[in-house]
Amino acid sequence: MPELPEVEVTRRRIEPLLVGRRIAKVGTTRPSYFFLTPPARLARELPGAVVRGLERRGKYLLAQLDDGRRLLLHLGMTGQLFAENASSPRLLSARRRAALRPEEQRGFAPDRHTHLRLEFDDGGPALFFRDVRKFGKVRLLRPGESDPRLDKLGVDALSATGDDLFAAARKRKVPIKTVLMDQGVLAGVGNIYADEALFLAKIRPRRPAARISRQEAKALVAALQKVLLRSIETGGSSISDYVLPDGSDGAYQDERRVYARAGEPCLVCGTRIKRISIGARSTHFCPGCQR
Ligand SMILES: [Zn+2]
Repeated sequence: MPELPEVEVTRRRIEPLLVGRRIAKVGTTRPSYFFLTPPARLARELPGAVVRGLERRGKYLLAQLDDGRRLLLHLGMTGQLFAENASSPRLLSARRRAALRPEEQRGFAPDRHTHLRLEFDDGGPALFFRDVRKFGKVRLLRPGESDPRLDKLGVDALSATGDDLFAAARKRKVPIKTVLMDQGVLAGVGNIYADEALFLAKIRPRRPAARISRQEAKALVAALQKVLLRSIETGGSSISDYVLPDGSDGAYQDERRVYARAGEPCLVCGTRIKRISIGARSTHFCPGCQR
């Protein structure tokens, strides 16, 4: 599932591709829960608009249009946002991929999972939004209009402070990991980075949130931002279907210290990494390092 770093990496790569370009034509798949704005309306109302910027809020992207409207995009579980000239074997089915010679495993033509296609009047590369499982979202917002999904978000994880987390955590009896992943507290934190941050801050994921000290909250937010920034720097995680907008794979999964390492020795103390379940999410920690 794309988390904040993957969405931010996508934003940084896609923004230069969009800014200053006028949308000429919109292609979509049929109406479905993917489209919060009916696809026919997108096809009718987007052409002519010039993209002024691409913003990120938590795991949401917002394309700013020149007339004040905004196009809200969410990658869901398997969303991929990339330029027409992207090339990656990940974009093909396993069978088609296997049938290709390496030099042929390039280029991408829109398929039935490509739910949104933006073409521009300069004739340059189109933008594709592909999503196999279709948990992604697209919505066109009128000037000044918001979306309840955005209104619910807390402070973005990259600009949060330890005090933000401490203030939210002190009132809660749930495990600290649950608060860390609450999008209404810190927007953008998902399972991988929550586990990694708790490990770096030496805090057990099941500790009751209300028992986290202000110092620990500060250490935890600092650790969280460290892993998020490092992941952005290395291009995000490529677990599952995530693919960089240019088609290459992210590299962060090679730096995981606890996530998906259950049973393996801790890189710091050698204790076996434990896997438990918190709020139905798999959770990984080191019983030796984390208190
Ligand atoms: Zn350890």
